[in-house]
Amino acid sequence: MKDELLGLRTKALEELKSVGERSDIETLRQLYLGRKGHLTLLLKRLAELPKEERPAMGRLANQVKEELTGQFQSVSDSLTTKELEEEPFLDVTLPGRRTPRGHLHPITQITQEICTIFSTLGFKVVEGPEVELDYYNFEALNMPKDHPARDIQDTFYISDNVVLRTHTSPMQIRTMERQLPPVSIVAPGKVYRPDSDISHTPMFHQVEGLLVDEGVSFGDLKGTLTTFVHQMFGPDTDLRFRPSFFPFTEPSAEVDIRCVVCQGKGCRVCSHSGWLEILGSGMIDPEVFKIVGYDPETTSGFAFGIGVERIAMLKSGLNDIRLFFENDIRFLRQF
Ligand SMILES: [Zn+2]
Repeated sequence: MKDELLGLRTKALEELKSVGERSDIETLRQLYLGRKGHLTLLLKRLAELPKEERPAMGRLANQVKEELTGQFQSVSDSLTTKELEEEPFLDVTLPGRRTPRGHLHPITQITQEICTIFSTLGFKVVEGPEVELDYYNFEALNMPKDHPARDIQDTFYISDNVVLRTHTSPMQIRTMERQLPPVSIVAPGKVYRPDSDISHTPMFHQVEGLLVDEGVSFGDLKGTLTTFVHQMFGPDTDLRFRPSFFPFTEPSAEVDIRCVVCQGKGCRVCSHSGWLEILGSGMIDPEVFKIVGYDPETTSGFAFGIGVERIAMLKSGLNDIRLFFENDIRFLRQF
């Protein structure tokens, strides 16, 4: 029995050497150490031995069992180590994955750019309500209820006397009501008109400007807006002041710049005129001064309104205003 036991041990260790897979180790373990394995069956036969031989043979059998169990475990462990080493190499010095960082919306960027230019000229930035009284949106701006100029601007009415502001001009009145001249403000913000096509959205942005003092002239208006255009579009940009009409300014002028697409030769963007309108402006109508309690004899000033989307489209070469508000990340990433 002793020879049988030692032979079994040698054979098991031999076979264990050639094992390469985890499943093979398990099969071999069952073959020798399992419930019906060779060693287990041999141990059962101990009982058949003469009584005096049993203790020595029992000790030997246990030694063999312990040795084989240990060897199986060690081969299994070294296989685990090998498997771990074959895992893909982890290079901890590689840079991490960046989390994408957002940025300001193009309209916000242009609004800030406009406000910065006027801030350096001494204008203060103020903001006001988007839901506005009819009085501030129309009446105090020299547009009484029956005034034909109201037809120019379609309006969202909340009630008879409350509207979504159609322009940022109400901030002229709100500011002049609160303080005496000199006044110099720009008022950026959202405005609303029921219009939607390639060049209109029901919500868009304006920056209103107002400067009031003693002896302000049309020359001041021209100088201020020329400075703005040159800072916004470059110092060589040609511009012109074209007579226009607004109920709350007199005289009024729209400002055009030389078409940025065709340089004035004429193209589809400028309707072959060579010029692009970028803002409206004018000297404050004395009627408006009377409404806010300023003396029109000693006070003068000018106002202007800039369409932010218009500027953004010209600077980026876009032809569809709606792109700004579709929130397509592929579009917004380009700014
Ligand atoms: Zn053009």
